[in-house]
Amino acid sequence: MSKLVAFAAIQGAYNIVGKVEGMYKRALEQYGPEQKLEFPNTGYFLPIIYSLLGIPVRNLKEAGEVLKIARKLLPYHVKNFNHLPYLGPLLDAGMSALFAEEIFEAIRYVDDPDFYYHSETCDIENGKIWLGAADDVVMRKRGVEFVDGSAPGFAAMVGAAPDVETAKLIVEDYQRRNLYVFMCANQNGTSLTEQLIEAGIQIGWNTRLVPFSPDISGAVFALGFANRAAMAFGGVKPGDYKRILQYNKDRVFAFINALGDVGAEWAANAAGCVNWGFPTIADTDIPEILPTGVCTYEHVVGNIAHEEMVQKSVEVRGLKTVVTKVDIPLSYGAAFEGERIRKDDLFVEFGGGKTQATELVEMADMDEIEDNKVTVIGKDIKDLGDKGGRLPLGIGVKVAGRKMQPDFEPILERQIHHLINYAQGIMHIGQRDIAWIRLGRPAVEKGFELKHVGQILHDMFHKDFGSILDKVEVTLYTNEADVKKFTEKARAMYKQRDERVENMTDEDEETFYSCTLCQSFAPSHVCVVSPERTGLCGAYNWFDCKASYEINPTGPNQPVQKGEVLDAKLGMFKGVNDFVYKASRQKIPQYNFYSIVYEPMTTCGCCECIAAVLPGCNGIMTVHRDYTGETPCGMKFTTLAGVMGGGQSSPGFVGHSKYNIVQRKFVAGDGGLLRMVWMPKSLKEELRAGLERRGQELGMPDLIDKIADETVGVDEATVMEFLQKVGHPALTMEPITG
Ligand code: SF4
Ligand code: ZN
Repeated sequence: MSKLVAFAAIQGAYNIVGKVEGMYKRALEQYGPEQKLEFPNTGYFLPIIYSLLGIPVRNLKEAGEVLKIARKLLPYHVKNFNHLPYLGPLLDAGMSALFAEEIFEAIRYVDDPDFYYHSETCDIENGKIWLGAADDVVMRKRGVEFVDGSAPGFAAMVGAAPDVETAKLIVEDYQRRNLYVFMCANQNGTSLTEQLIEAGIQIGWNTRLVPFSPDISGAVFALGFANRAAMAFGGVKPGDYKRILQYNKDRVFAFINALGDVGAEWAANAAGCVNWGFPTIADTDIPEILPTGVCTYEHVVGNIAHEEMVQKSVEVRGLKTVVTKVDIPLSYGAAFEGERIRKDDLFVEFGGGKTQATELVEMADMDEIEDNKVTVIGKDIKDLGDKGGRLPLGIGVKVAGRKMQPDFEPILERQIHHLINYAQGIMHIGQRDIAWIRLGRPAVEKGFELKHVGQILHDMFHKDFGSILDKVEVTLYTNEADVKKFTEKARAMYKQRDERVENMTDEDEETFYSCTLCQSFAPSHVCVVSPERTGLCGAYNWFDCKASYEINPTGPNQPVQKGEVLDAKLGMFKGVNDFVYKASRQKIPQYNFYSIVYEPMTTCGCCECIAAVLPGCNGIMTVHRDYTGETPCGMKFTTLAGVMGGGQSSPGFVGHSKYNIVQRKFVAGDGGLLRMVWMPKSLKEELRAGLERRGQELGMPDLIDKIADETVGVDEATVMEFLQKVGHPALTMEPITG
């Protein structure tokens, strides 16, 4: 390692800390010590400081204490710094710079509340480009992708490429590899973000290209994101800095790309990132930091040509990324899933209320279909002329295979949404008979035709489900009469399927399925999924787990024999307990399927909703993660998730999926859905049909109207008043204890 780069980094840290101290002093005079400091909508305070030091900074006064720590961390004798190759002082300098920068950004939120645009996407027309800190809703939604591997990691890109073309080249390569790109800092008056805008590339969380900040201090938003994921999904406790950093090094595959001259402040940030195990790969001739100590890879690599940057970066970080190959004339990958098709770019549209669009996956006999055959019946895109327009569409997919079962049809059908969305320049919304596809003009200019929809489904079904199917044939209909006939047939099949699922009971099934996918982040957490208790993330029901087991018999979903029923009311089963005890590595001896009060199931950070007992109302409430407001239990979703999302069983609280609320066994041991006294309004509306159906079954058709929401109030007393007024059933039930 070179003495030079270390010297620059330490000098940079001195500059940053000094600058922030000055800013802090001014802010203190201007606002006073009690001035609130925060990033928007987060339960993790200033996350780097909170996660590593365990200090929740809530106001200027508390920030002052942290600044003192940052100052102390600066290596004392800069000029005599020659303890090389010992990295300690360099790491400390980097860390002190990051602490100071986090305070800088927090004060900026006070000084200039509109500096950052608080949204998942940019509003480029109105100049709202920089998104600043991700709030907890975004962090959970996106963090899950790092958990389940759908995003292998992130590239933090600093500065600007030499030109727009190079910017585009690098970034699209990362997109194809499903990585997130976090961007900050200018170089020579421009930034990578602005270059991408110029190239017409969509930026924002939805396309995985996240413009954090025009300043280098925005690096803290990337690192803070990583640390919050470690706390939210890994159950790592704030202040346990060793585990937070180790966790990141082991599980969050991130690295920095420095584009342009690396000045002292950039060097300080790069040094800070070495603490996380995130190396810097630069396009300039900067002195390298070679592997030392426990790290087996380089920390700083310089002089990398732009064409090699992506490959070199993933190599240095030891990341395996795969570019998905499908035989279509467009780029393809998860990063393109969230693109929008703007009105001006729209060329053709199917469904969306204006025409009928329907999708159906059906199982067929092996000799009935031909693999890789795609037939288009009716007009194709090119028949629409130069102007484009609208067509009805039926997507009929037939699959056959020795291990295929009718139960897997809906699972495959659900993939159509994201598989089509992955194509660059195509948007897919909805499913079944309310599908909606929009195709942009650029996609058509690149040669996209309807047959490519079939090609995508053929290629990807084989890739993802090759172990259960051998043949995929796709027919696309665009004649109105054909689509109508196809839709009628599809509706009859949907109905059959829905009844099959709804009529299944836990009593009828001897085999449940485990899911341990979240153990990589919450080690003691084990979901056991039964027909009437869908996985708490909402992504896995019993059928999904069963299919997943058939597809990958040694994977995270294993059959669990229910065994002896120990308690039918609370839902305790001997076979399940045995499994959970083992799978939680002796942390969790047993749990109940249908209770929130007595030994509830464990909860991990990716649950869709968290229910809590409201003793003052003799009932329970639940809240989903998109609702960021206060709740009657005194905690917001993020706080609840922080308290109990690490994989433990917490009586009085339980994580569950949205759909589980309208399943018959939902907290059945504690009185069931009739106990529900409060839910956010948006959740009530989302589940309206199911809540009405369940109300009917329970002999209370207007139950939904008796459940309070935030428009009634967010404290127990107000909710109670409402319950009395409407005569809520919970008030006459036996006392809820816990
Ligand atoms: Fe995680 Fe449970 Fe969902 Fe599996 S079912 S992904 S373990 S929350
Ligand atoms: Zn989880």
